Amino acid sequence: MTCNSDNYPRISAALIDMDGTLYNSMPNHARAWKLLMDEAGIPAREEEFYLYEGATGAATIDRLILRTWGRHATDAEKRDMYARKAELFVQQPPVQLMPGARELVEALRERHILTVLVSGSGQNSLLGRLDTDFPGAFPVERRVTSASVAHGKPAPDPFLRGLELAGVSAHQAIAIDNAPLGTTSAVAAGILTVGVLTGPIPAAEVIRTGVHILYHSMDECAAILPRLIDRINHPLPVLS
Ligand code: CA
Repeated sequence: MTCNSDNYPRISAALIDMDGTLYNSMPNHARAWKLLMDEAGIPAREEEFYLYEGATGAATIDRLILRTWGRHATDAEKRDMYARKAELFVQQPPVQLMPGARELVEALRERHILTVLVSGSGQNSLLGRLDTDFPGAFPVERRVTSASVAHGKPAPDPFLRGLELAGVSAHQAIAIDNAPLGTTSAVAAGILTVGVLTGPIPAAEVIRTGVHILYHSMDECAAILPRLIDRINHPLPVLS
């Protein structure tokens, strides 16, 4: 364990979510989900899909069908509707970097904080961009994706796997995620958890998951969090 001289552990790893945190991809997902449900004749609001962020596509389809038609989705419905949703997603405008994301990642790396991706995603269109958009920050061996764990967010497993990949204990890490299912997962893993509001999810939905710190944008997170980590890792000497 890495310790300060007074035995306080340092923050030495940052476990960072992808969709809605590094990339402003949630509007495209929500729009694709809404278009899919319109085609299927299932009433839905575009905003609600932000709350299902982190859940599997099959779980979201089942939730909406159960709510509308009073029965569970069949396997064929889950498969066919998710395939159609993926078609609709790629028809959306190009996904942009979340403002502030690059600055945050650079600030963490300047401080020799190990950066690890903890995503529920398997979408190669974004995973394939990480090396270009964040050079050196998220090599393949430091990525938790949909294929990495049996139980995704809100279970603690993705962030616990992230700790393993970083080689640190929970108290040596910080987690950064924008969605309630993600922050629930990180808190359950015992990690100091930063929630970041980057879309229409109300602050209360993130706060009630037990986050320790909340920022209102990734720009704000990038401006403040590195200095907070500096203070944690380099506490002022106690005056006597
Ligand atoms: Ca997210």
